[in-house]
Amino acid sequence: MTRYVIVGNSAGGIGAAETIRATDPDGHVTILSDESYPAYSRPAISEFLAGERTFGERMLFRDADFYKRLRIECMLGTRVARVHTKERAVELSDGRRVPYDRLLLATGGTPIIPRMEGLTLRGVHPFTTMDHAKSFHEALSSGKNRVVVIGAGLIGCSLVNGLLHRGGIQITLVELKDRVLSTMVDTHASSLVEKRLSKMGVSVRTGRSATRILPRPDDATSVGGVMLDNGELVSCDVVGMAVGVTPRAELAREADIRCNRGILVDAHMETSARGVFACGDVAEAQDFIYGVPRVTAIWPTAYMGGRVAGANMAGATTRYDGCTAMNAFSYFDMALISAGMFDPDPALGYPVVAREKPDAYKKLVIRDHKLIGFVMAGEIEQSGVLFNLLREQTDVRSFEGRLADWDFSMASLPRDLRGAWIGGPGYAAPTEKQPVAGPVAEKVSP
Ligand SMILES: Cc1cc2nc3c(=O)[nH]c(=O)nc-3n(C[C@H](O)[C@H](O)[C@H](O)COP(=O)(O)OP(=O)(O)OC[C@H]3O[C@@H](n4cnc5c(N)ncnc54)[C@H](O)[C@@H]3O)c2cc1C
Repeated sequence: MTRYVIVGNSAGGIGAAETIRATDPDGHVTILSDESYPAYSRPAISEFLAGERTFGERMLFRDADFYKRLRIECMLGTRVARVHTKERAVELSDGRRVPYDRLLLATGGTPIIPRMEGLTLRGVHPFTTMDHAKSFHEALSSGKNRVVVIGAGLIGCSLVNGLLHRGGIQITLVELKDRVLSTMVDTHASSLVEKRLSKMGVSVRTGRSATRILPRPDDATSVGGVMLDNGELVSCDVVGMAVGVTPRAELAREADIRCNRGILVDAHMETSARGVFACGDVAEAQDFIYGVPRVTAIWPTAYMGGRVAGANMAGATTRYDGCTAMNAFSYFDMALISAGMFDPDPALGYPVVAREKPDAYKKLVIRDHKLIGFVMAGEIEQSGVLFNLLREQTDVRSFEGRLADWDFSMASLPRDLRGAWIGGPGYAAPTEKQPVAGPVAEKVSP
């Protein structure tokens, strides 16, 4: 009986466990997690903070019976301290060892905490786990209502969105770059988001960094304010640390498994150590738009990567054709989506087409008559069609001039292409494609 050990009980770990069980009904599957919850939707911690979800069925992305039904041994609250690749065993923080035949590292990311004075004061919280969301909730439940969020990327904006929905909170958002969501959208879309934030009462400080967290004048152990690099002191009761996440790759590094920023994997999601696989936010897989390995820290990539890893761990040969970033959210009453290389260096000379209207924006980037990136804000209903074109790297020459039209949809595609996607009589069967992250994959939604 093959022994499968999975470190991490989230999108990647669950994707792998499901595929292992589907491929090998007899293997022994163990999931180890240092969190104490069954698998939950990490993006939904913002809704928990907002008071829109309680921790229960609505935050779990698999039913309560999941582990029992799939005969998975799930060890929660259990940290893996070391991987011994020669002995094929993981060592837990209490010294116990769990042997494996196949191992998956789906350890995700860890919040980056910039070094500064005041980090240990009561009221300073990162925002990547259910426990963080609970700490925030508790901190704000005692009548405290002034929050400074440091970092305006996806996690910072997710936190601000949760706070806005919670209501009655004075929010200041501080961002080192000159615009919000700088890795997720282009300058114009950032400006649309900033306008929304201001309209909703959020004070946005871009191009500023926090230098110190100061205690309250009447309580030296609790947060009282944040000092910015221009000398401005923003008074607050709680600080959200949302500067970013970094791959939690230390288990691999210490085991001499090849890493760059994340753990390097091949097309089967296997690492440089035989029998050890990696996926999700901790792994660096091939980005099919950039043509290099990159960490793509989004939920669908983790889940799909987990599925490919799981299949290969269980002996089925499956390739991962790569992924590319695809971010979608609807925060601040605004739907926004971006994918691929949406903001290329102008020196590359790729054609860019952009359209604007008062509440909507659409921008496309083309390379060799193939869509390689896009941003949409406001009206995003047809983004699935664009993502399909990008994912398949379809030659768009025959309809390139129409791509940026507001009404461009599936119906705008040439008949043969439409047919290949939809299927049906008279149409060629869709080409067998390996899974990549995308909005079209219905089972991957957190
Ligand atoms: C606030 C927030 C909002 C987000 N919004 C979106 C969104 O809108 N769309 C989207 O696509 N993505 C979003 N993401 C990102 C998405 O949640 C991640 O890409 C996804 O969760 C990655 O899954 P993973 O399985 O790779 O790792 P993770 O979800 O990070 O899980 C890894 C797990 O492994 C555990 N672990 C790590 N090391 C050890 C160890 N040594 N021993 C035991 N256990 C260990 C960790 O505690 C954790 O439970 C968001 C993330 C956050 C934090």
